[in-house]
Amino acid sequence: MERRTQEGYSSTCYNIADVVDKAQAVCRALEQEYGRPRWQRRESLIDELIATILSQNTTAKQADKAFRALKERFGDWGSVRDCPLDELAEAIRVGGLAEQKARSIKAVLDAICADQGRLDLEWLSTMPDEEALKFLQSFPGVGRKTAACVLMFGLGRPVMPVDTHVYRIAVRVGLIPPQSVDRAHDVFQSLVPPEMIYSCHVNMVAHGRRVCKARNPNCHKCVLRVYCDAYQKSQCEAVL
Ligand code: SF4
Repeated sequence: MERRTQEGYSSTCYNIADVVDKAQAVCRALEQEYGRPRWQRRESLIDELIATILSQNTTAKQADKAFRALKERFGDWGSVRDCPLDELAEAIRVGGLAEQKARSIKAVLDAICADQGRLDLEWLSTMPDEEALKFLQSFPGVGRKTAACVLMFGLGRPVMPVDTHVYRIAVRVGLIPPQSVDRAHDVFQSLVPPEMIYSCHVNMVAHGRRVCKARNPNCHKCVLRVYCDAYQKSQCEAVL
């Protein structure tokens, strides 16, 4: 039987059509477990971008606290851009890596101003996905995951952010091979139907936090066991 393969997959183990079917089955299983989240615009696109920068290497709770502290203290992005760096770092300290994130936030706000002459990203809503991703990644410190978060959460675009939870589950289940996370964005996105991308991302993050944790995944409570290569392999090894 002819096997269609994709770069990074073993030609003897993976048929891309099978992997696409498995990805959809995983999305549906997660929707049955956690529901189908509906996309709702939460913030302006600059809010979304800064909130995503603040979410790096911390918990959602601490990132949210840092974002609210920032908004309460400064009120608007122009004031954040104009304030001293140490004052900004102090305001977001609760989110961790405060100095580094403060530098990133200032650099991004400066870059938006330099490009547009004003602090506004709403015009991105008219730009195609790939162009918008490239544009956002031209800002200092903004990588593929952050750019994808802005487009998916901010505009409801079918662009998959692959964060640590999504990556870990996708690799363990056997949807993508271990590879660089940047490369994983394109590979994983190509497996999930556009209308399921938002739900898949949100539910995988929930699943990674509650069940498929980095250490000690709770496999016996996992709805993905039947699809999961890592679990099946561990069961095979257990009987040998
Ligand atoms: S079966 Fe275990 S390793 Fe596989 S997705 Fe579930 S929790 Fe993660």
